[in-house]
Amino acid sequence: MERISGTRSVFSVEFFPPRDAEDEVRLWRAIRDLEPLDPAFVSITYGAGGSSRDRTIRTTARVAQETTLVPMAHLTAVNHSVAELRHVIGWYAAVGVRNILAIRGDPPGDPMGEWIPHPDGVTYAAELVRLVRELGDFCVGVAAFPYGHPRSVDLDTDTDHLVGKLRAGADFAVAQLFFEAEDFLRLRDRVAARGCQAPILPGVMPLTTVRTLRKAVELSGAPASPALAARLEPFADDPAAFRAVGIDLVTELCQRLLAEGVPALHFYTLNRSTATKEVVGRLGLVPDRAGELTAS
Ligand SMILES: Cc1cc2nc3c(=O)[nH]c(=O)nc-3n(C[C@H](O)[C@H](O)[C@H](O)COP(=O)(O)OP(=O)(O)OC[C@H]3O[C@@H](n4cnc5c(N)ncnc54)[C@H](O)[C@@H]3O)c2cc1C
Repeated sequence: MERISGTRSVFSVEFFPPRDAEDEVRLWRAIRDLEPLDPAFVSITYGAGGSSRDRTIRTTARVAQETTLVPMAHLTAVNHSVAELRHVIGWYAAVGVRNILAIRGDPPGDPMGEWIPHPDGVTYAAELVRLVRELGDFCVGVAAFPYGHPRSVDLDTDTDHLVGKLRAGADFAVAQLFFEAEDFLRLRDRVAARGCQAPILPGVMPLTTVRTLRKAVELSGAPASPALAARLEPFADDPAAFRAVGIDLVTELCQRLLAEGVPALHFYTLNRSTATKEVVGRLGLVPDRAGELTAS
């Protein structure tokens, strides 16, 4: 938590567990490449099932034990009993992980399918927050949705549930992707209007290709804003120009968010490092020592 509450604006990065050996090499190249830039933390998403969960746990442990980075482990309640959740949390603690992003998760196979809790499990993220808190001195984060969670009845109810998670003991929230700074700032205002001052980190993704833009639309749960689409669409068939404009757009978005006082920017990296490095470099978020370390 102290890593995102200093006076200096910082950034954090998110990875997902590697699917195979080749993926693992690529992921570790990205991790090592970003390490000298001193991100506030590195978060690793929690897989939907058995083997990908093992890869999440293994990768998070390696980050804790073999790098200078601060890991944040994601944990979901999907198909877990409370006893299993306690076990995973205990295991995270044993390998030196002190930060956990407590997420309810989605029904496996169909994110919009009916959520059926494990008979001995939990139903909402707030319960997971309480469980993690109960088990040790963890810094706990939760998920936030600028356009509202796709299943939520309306924005106000969704914001009430977000504030409920924060009041259950979470220290901060990380926001899902969005397209305009105002979309995020409105979420922050809704939370503040409920008397909750917990920091909310905007989630951003460098829009380097048409594919990443599609991914951003899918994750955000909303269509790209007309302003953003108007700047990118003319370059749909020109990858180099698309990338250049995409990086400009994300840099401008981040500049606006920093001017609005966000404590940190959370980058969805898709397990790559080049574009994130480029954006944080342009924003001047890279510590001086990064240059020395990269050069050495
Ligand atoms: C930053 C971030 C990281 C993520 N990481 C992962 C990951 O690692 N692995 C993964 O599988 N998925 C991940 N997800 C996706 C996430 O699992 C899904 O978005 C999931 O549907 C919601 O999880 P949640 O923790 O927000 O759930 P919750 O906060 O429990 O909310 C789920 C739904 O229930 C509603 N709700 C909440 N509390 C109540 C209540 N008390 N009564 C009635 N309704 C309620 C909410 O409004 C929402 O509609 C991530 C999402 C984000 C934004």
